[in-house]
Amino acid sequence: MKTTVYTVLALFVLTAFSSCSPKGPYALTNKVYKHQTDSVLEVIAREQPATLVDSAGTAIPSEFIGTVNFNARKPNYVIIHFTAQDSAKQTLKTFTLVKPQVSAHYVVGKDGKVYHMLNDYLRAWQAGISRWGSVTDMNSCSIGIEIDNNGHEPFNDVQVKSLLALLAQLKKAYNIPTANFIGHQDIAPGRKPDPGPLFPWKLLAKRGFGYWSDELLELPPDNFDYATALRLIGYDTSNLPAAIVAFKRHFVQIEDSPAMGQLDLNVLYNVYRKY
Ligand SMILES: [Zn+2]
Repeated sequence: MKTTVYTVLALFVLTAFSSCSPKGPYALTNKVYKHQTDSVLEVIAREQPATLVDSAGTAIPSEFIGTVNFNARKPNYVIIHFTAQDSAKQTLKTFTLVKPQVSAHYVVGKDGKVYHMLNDYLRAWQAGISRWGSVTDMNSCSIGIEIDNNGHEPFNDVQVKSLLALLAQLKKAYNIPTANFIGHQDIAPGRKPDPGPLFPWKLLAKRGFGYWSDELLELPPDNFDYATALRLIGYDTSNLPAAIVAFKRHFVQIEDSPAMGQLDLNVLYNVYRKY
């Protein structure tokens, strides 16, 4: 009897609490998030064997037998963006609306606050049509980080401090190689300008996130093939002028004309040998 009274009391308290708990502006979109993650779980839980046919159209026998040794796939790249928007709030709104069809795992506000918007193991829609080396589905293998920045202003110290802490955690958690911290502009030259020439890649490289050229640069040999060097770093050189611009916005940051001057060549010769 006493137990029943306590149970009823507990239920009453719980109901009263939940009915007056703050819902917040993202209560509804968090519900959608939960629904979406449930549907991803359903996909993962499927135990269907592959349906295969030979060249004559005859079914090839197949059977699903679950292995007992596996875990989730891990991200191996970090792609850095600027939001090109005026506030983190605006970006949070964009990423919680269906229509824009874009998202990122993290948004770093100007005040240093880090918004985690998608579990690291899930695929955000941040890279778009892109290529790095032979990887053509960057969304599947990367974490996307959006820095609240309109594209024309410096990145502030508080924001960069938070970003560095986040990068350190991601690098450690997923064993991400130093070379694999890159920008949206690098994987989508000619299409995307972010995070732009104001982004502190030199500082990031000092901390082990991406590469930067050494202080002392040697002249490249006469037969130095800069297009091949750009390709070896990872750039898609099918549009060479666009690849040059992207490289210069990341590694030189002085001007971004689609021409390789002596300094650009020296920097490239130095950097590409690190990859
Ligand atoms: Zn971007």
